[in-house]
Amino acid sequence: MSDCLFCRIIAGEIPSAKVFENDHVLGFKDLYPQAKEHYLFIHKSHSKNVNEMDSTQLSDIFSAIKEFTQNNDLEENGFRVVSNVNKHGGQTVFHTHFHVLGGEQLKHFGS
Ligand code: AMP
Ligand code: ZN
Repeated sequence: MSDCLFCRIIAGEIPSAKVFENDHVLGFKDLYPQAKEHYLFIHKSHSKNVNEMDSTQLSDIFSAIKEFTQNNDLEENGFRVVSNVNKHGGQTVFHTHFHVLGGEQLKHFGS
């Protein structure tokens, strides 16, 4: 059994509220949402952070986010994609993940 929380979610050992799945990528609701809509997109191949991903994995992730956001109101109204890296970035789960936030007006950075 993996000790990685998100690998365990991928394996179905820990429940998640799935919103997207294909052969390579899983999207699910964040347990502690920071916006009206807050999803996490992860690659099924484990990596620690975005700098460890190769171009194929990055393409898989952003294709999935594109497909998902085009199939609901997120694209039209707008959304934000964030990936926190290591300590200063505030990363708490060390399986690369991309936060997709939307469903309301988000605060502009620096304002
Ligand atoms: P980060 O702080 O960028 O590493 O993001 C980790 C995210 O995972 C946080 O937004 C948490 O709310 C979220 N999270 C932690 N455990 C779970 C879980 N079991 N299911 C869904 N989201 C989770
Ligand atoms: Zn993992």
